[in-house]
Amino acid sequence: MLNKIKEFENLSNILEPDSSEREKIRNAIVSYSESFLENIEKIKTYQTTADKGSQLLEFPVKETGMPIDQIIELISHNVDRPGLNPASGGHIAYVPGGGIYPSSLGDYLSDITNRYAGVFYANPGAVRIENILIRWMCQMFGFPKESGGNLTSGGSIANLIAIVTARDYKKLKGKYFDKAVIYSTSQAHHCTRKAIKTSGLYESVQRHIPMDNQFRMIPELLAEAIQSDKEKGLIPFMVITSAGTTDTGAIDPLTEIADICKENNLWFHVDAAYGGFFVLSEEVKDQFKGIEFADSVVIDPHKGLFLPYGSGAVLVRNAKWLYDSNHMQANYMQDTFDDVEELSPADLSPELTKPFRGMRLWLPLQLFGLAPFRAALSEKIWLCRYFYEEIQKIDGFEVGPYPALSIMTYRYVLKEGDSNSYNLELVNRVKEEGSVFISSTTIDGLVFLRLAVLSFRTHLKTINKCLEVLKNLTS
Ligand SMILES: *Cc1c(COP(=O)(O)O)cnc(C)c1O
Repeated sequence: MLNKIKEFENLSNILEPDSSEREKIRNAIVSYSESFLENIEKIKTYQTTADKGSQLLEFPVKETGMPIDQIIELISHNVDRPGLNPASGGHIAYVPGGGIYPSSLGDYLSDITNRYAGVFYANPGAVRIENILIRWMCQMFGFPKESGGNLTSGGSIANLIAIVTARDYKKLKGKYFDKAVIYSTSQAHHCTRKAIKTSGLYESVQRHIPMDNQFRMIPELLAEAIQSDKEKGLIPFMVITSAGTTDTGAIDPLTEIADICKENNLWFHVDAAYGGFFVLSEEVKDQFKGIEFADSVVIDPHKGLFLPYGSGAVLVRNAKWLYDSNHMQANYMQDTFDDVEELSPADLSPELTKPFRGMRLWLPLQLFGLAPFRAALSEKIWLCRYFYEEIQKIDGFEVGPYPALSIMTYRYVLKEGDSNSYNLELVNRVKEEGSVFISSTTIDGLVFLRLAVLSFRTHLKTINKCLEVLKNLTS
């Protein structure tokens, strides 16, 4: 038996490389990532390749490994070449991804030490870090002292947690699901519809309240819809608003909607996944008035704080509501029960084992301070306003509403012919050119181009480049 144990130990020893072996793997990865960052401005924002990474199929999981250099070759050719390059400042299409450098090192550190941030007893420091970040975000929105929240993998899961918490807090029983009414506009993010489905509420009545000409919910029509639903014997239950829609960047009139929710006893949810952190910018913070009355808010550090993908957050007006929805006991957890100086993330989300997400956010905030983040957010606002002015100076372009934040729509209008297909084609031609990456959307049957500025690497020269490309391709 001892021989067997020894034999297996020897065979598995490679799982613990020694210091010089670690150095070799680490250096290879670091030098590859350095060359990626040094060339970030030269790499195309979108690259079409014939193979689409299919070489990877020739490398299935095998019994024996291969050298790190060969693996990096594979990654470089198949992962970091075809498709979209969201780390590029030229990515001004979908709500851009960021990837501030210290976050990656925060992940590195928390992966090395593998601290468990799910339960206070297991790692009080890690849980404190996560709760400090949550309390900071709650304060940012003027939430009351008893508020709380959870760091999630992104906005979609954060919205799901909020909707489930609303369902439970309002004590909606299964047999009434088909009478429950959820209000939003047609511009609400589609992940809220996914969340409604996942939470079991797919049978509920989902009403789209009409919008004004800036794509904001019209509060009076919300009030009317609630009244009429009540008269029909339905159960108005929750309003999903947006503080920065993905399509056009619109912020619903939060204060008016908060009043209506209060009067009618509805859960008031604000999806601020894209827009939320703009509350840190003096330029636009007033537009978030009313968010302090929300029952739940969703916000994405991997958008507005420029983190690499993997960081969202849900904030709830009273941490107890979140706890009641997510807390579950088990005997094998009994040693962890008594220590309650801080709420444990595992009691506030469906997750148990989870990455220590706090570190990737806390480390850059400690290292840089908040000021450069505020400045970057204000810069994005002004870049979008600048584009709004400048694009109208190019023949043929018209714009949608003045940008509330850093997203806006615009389109090229042909004197004769099909402008819709022209604009779709224009997106492809910009993509081929490669220095910037833009996207399109359809609003009321019209194809619009979208500008979404949120990468910390997008600066004036990026926007000027975009204007230059659009001018060249349309003249
Ligand atoms: C991005 C976004 C989401 C979805 O968040 P993920 O982090 O992509 O899961 C939800 N709502 C809005 C308004 C968004 O912009």
